[in-house]
Amino acid sequence: MKYPAIQNFVGGRAAKWHGDSADVISPLDGTHLSLVPLSTTADVDAAVRSASAAFPAWSTETLRQRSQVAYTYRELLRKHIDEIAGLIHEENGKTVDEARAEIVRAIEVTEFACSLPQLACGEALEVSKGVECRVERAPLGVVASITPFNFPAMVPHWTIPIAITLGNTMVFKPSEKVPLTTNRTAELLHEAGLPAGVFNVVHGQRTVVESLCDHPDVKAITFVGSTAVAKSVYVRATSHFKRVLALGGAKNHLIVLPDALVGPTAANVVASMAGCAGQRCMAAASMLAVGAVDAIIQQVCDEARKMVLGKNLGPVISAASKARIEGFIAEAVAAGAKVLVDGRGAVLPGREGGFYIGATVLDNVRPDMRIAQEEVFGPVLAIIRARDVDEAIAIENASPYGNAAAVYTTNGAQAKAIARRASAGMIGVNVGVPVPLEPFGFGGWNDSRFGVCDITGKSSIEFWTQSKKITTRW
Ligand code: NAD
Repeated sequence: MKYPAIQNFVGGRAAKWHGDSADVISPLDGTHLSLVPLSTTADVDAAVRSASAAFPAWSTETLRQRSQVAYTYRELLRKHIDEIAGLIHEENGKTVDEARAEIVRAIEVTEFACSLPQLACGEALEVSKGVECRVERAPLGVVASITPFNFPAMVPHWTIPIAITLGNTMVFKPSEKVPLTTNRTAELLHEAGLPAGVFNVVHGQRTVVESLCDHPDVKAITFVGSTAVAKSVYVRATSHFKRVLALGGAKNHLIVLPDALVGPTAANVVASMAGCAGQRCMAAASMLAVGAVDAIIQQVCDEARKMVLGKNLGPVISAASKARIEGFIAEAVAAGAKVLVDGRGAVLPGREGGFYIGATVLDNVRPDMRIAQEEVFGPVLAIIRARDVDEAIAIENASPYGNAAAVYTTNGAQAKAIARRASAGMIGVNVGVPVPLEPFGFGGWNDSRFGVCDITGKSSIEFWTQSKKITTRW
């Protein structure tokens, strides 16, 4: 085992737990990295007590004082970027460059948290002669955040710096597949001056999540992960009258029109499909090829062949994931899809224990095939031919998901019309991973998001606070 067994982080220090442990395996080569706690309801309770005890003092600091921790923490993220990128590379498998890029996003959200005194400073108006109405934003109390494996730094930072700077205290549960980055996050937050108990980590799986949903002292929960679990968290936590924002899975469609620029479009489509080994909720899943776009498809295949295992293409998270993705491809081929680039059976010499799949491009996929309907979460592009824009939009709209969609064209009016008609929360025009940067918020539609508000940006202030309206006449 490369690292010592991981512990929970409660009250500003490492804390023992009561349950079993699970192995943490590196997808790069199958190395046994560590053991992660599978915590119990009692462990969740201990962390919630710690967060509750910290809330009165933390929530009554001024917002400007709390934001000072975010400033210092941002500097620590910058200082330790290589070390954290190394941890992410090991436990998640993505390339070091991809890991650095997600830490840069974590830094950007932390910078947004630094700006909260300017954004959440309340409002005041003399509503009638001599009477003032003032609106203040108050934190909610103890909140919880639950995250997936695919971004061990970025997705946790969608919530941690914003929720905490706004005065909440937090119990955090990362994916059990990537626990190392989170413990380093906790250490750096405390090095930045965060008081003990404001940020706590409870590792584990379903028991921890359900205990957080049920706990009477947890006021709000954010969840990011697959749609099935997002739905169950949303239903369970709202049944206890909590505020919940649950982001789910995705199936993103890229609509490619014949007037799109061949080279940039092909490069961008493949970057969206194969970046982070396709394990992004913003990844291209299906390319809706409208009309005569064969030159672009040819170039897409050339770009896909430039994805080199271990260089610019990391492994997928587990052996089970690899088998599932290869199963999707085999089933599509049996149903009539044509393999243009085949990444199945990929092995990286010297890393035979890793879970690699090469970039794969399938043509002639039909909308009724399972690969066109379900989330694959691997470096696989399913090309679906569409006669015209109306047919492409109909296919996109029929998907139950709605995280992102994109259109590639040089026709501005066409781009605008398709952006309007797509049923997704984040739209790209010649951009395959249309992540809105701060101060804009990240959030999808339909089965990709349950609850209101975006998880980042200005609307996250609404989620993590409640407004108090004070009417005064002296
Ligand atoms: P997952 O749903 O398996 O796990 C997410 C979290 O839920 C983890 O912390 C996990 O421990 C916990 N969990 C797993 N099963 C559970 C259960 N039955 N009950 C309660 N908790 C449970 O997701 P994953 O495989 O870690 O991540 C990949 C998924 O996350 C993909 O579907 C991807 O699209 C989605 N995702 C969505 C977004 C978004 O913004 N919409 C962002 C990143 C990832």
